[in-house]
Amino acid sequence: MKRLSEKQIQYTLFHLSQHWKNEPSVVKSFVFVNQDEVDNQSYLGKVIFPLSDVQVPQTTTISILNTTVPVLFPVSKSADLYRIDGNGNLIFAHDFLKSAFYLLSGWQELQTGHRDFIGRYPHSQSIQNRLRCTKLPLVNYYFEAIVQGFEAYGMHHNKLIERRRLFNEFGFLLSHDVDRVEFYHYREIFFKLKQYFGLSKRYYSKALTLKLFFKGLLFKLNPFRKTDPWWNFDKMAEQEKRLGIRSTFYFLKQEHKNMDSRYQFSDTKIRNLIKRLINDGFEVGLHGTIHSAKHESSMMGQLREMTKALGHKPRGIRQHYLRFFHPYTFRLQIKAGLKYDTSLGFAEHEGYRNGYCYPFKPYDFERDEMLDIWEIPLTMMEVTALNYRELSYEELKQSVFDLIVEARKFGGIFSLLWHNCRLDEYQYPGITKFYNSLLESIVDVSPTCITGRKLVETIS
Ligand SMILES: [Zn+2]
Repeated sequence: MKRLSEKQIQYTLFHLSQHWKNEPSVVKSFVFVNQDEVDNQSYLGKVIFPLSDVQVPQTTTISILNTTVPVLFPVSKSADLYRIDGNGNLIFAHDFLKSAFYLLSGWQELQTGHRDFIGRYPHSQSIQNRLRCTKLPLVNYYFEAIVQGFEAYGMHHNKLIERRRLFNEFGFLLSHDVDRVEFYHYREIFFKLKQYFGLSKRYYSKALTLKLFFKGLLFKLNPFRKTDPWWNFDKMAEQEKRLGIRSTFYFLKQEHKNMDSRYQFSDTKIRNLIKRLINDGFEVGLHGTIHSAKHESSMMGQLREMTKALGHKPRGIRQHYLRFFHPYTFRLQIKAGLKYDTSLGFAEHEGYRNGYCYPFKPYDFERDEMLDIWEIPLTMMEVTALNYRELSYEELKQSVFDLIVEARKFGGIFSLLWHNCRLDEYQYPGITKFYNSLLESIVDVSPTCITGRKLVETIS
């Protein structure tokens, strides 16, 4: 990766302006120079950003807000973040712009051919994994270093530097991908037999798998049967309403025989559910099918069907399985008229795939330009903690609060995905109680509860 181009610098400054009110007289003083030209004596009262031309990150660590943070593109050995020289210049000690751009734009993901079995960029390949810093929003720290520099420059030159913050405390975005709606769907029931005979991976003990197969048959045969355990939307909505939360439900149509859902948006039950959720102030968005990440006709088809069911165009999308092809999937979403995506999180580790706890606009490297859609980063999904990482409930809760501490430092967002079908007492005994108490304890620390749609309306 060469020096940042003019467009890449402007892209990074666009996001920096989420943290300070661009003061024109300061912006006018910006100069971007090669890292070996920062001491040019002709500069007077400038804000000097050194540009690194190092190809791959050569990390060093610094301290920002009492936190040890790796800088990906250092340009000096200084432990300070910046200095003001005798000519009144503010000179940053490192290339914070490139360090921010590298993560925010997803540059590292395009460098490697590594993908998992469904085409996702694996956390194991990321620099965050290598540096053990997935749970730190590094880009926010880099921007903090720059704004601290602006403040020192403002003091020196008697200019007012005003900070900006998205939320007073932090924003809490809760969402649910509606992958499954029937625990006792006949295919789920017969799948248990397959699992029992070892033809598919088992989630329960052998005895419980067999018991659930027979339970499923009896459920189907019982004319007075109760509600299916995965048709739990009204209970979830009631709980959230009690806590003052309005979440987003992303619905997934059946397209692929096995890998998508087992319902259509036009099913009466689904249409009525969508109406109820909308009437209660929840957001309904699109959960893009496995094909939609790559195929235009698939993306457009489900957008049309969702628009019909909703009565208006959905604003937001999350791709099923977080399957994503950068920048192609973004281009399809933009073509479909969607305003935001919220698929960018690591499947196997909670934290910050793009190092940022704010909404951001993605970068299209092929066209060297910023894309016109918001990305609301996904911070944690329950399946990451429970399945990939095999955390206990207490460890999951601890991790949630570690991430909230970070979001709160910067007035950023904590975004949690919890699948309705993961409130499965057979697989995770006590999960419903734990989930409810988790929501209560999050609400106790005073977040602004907001949907993706509202958030995007606020910042656009
Ligand atoms: Zn899904």
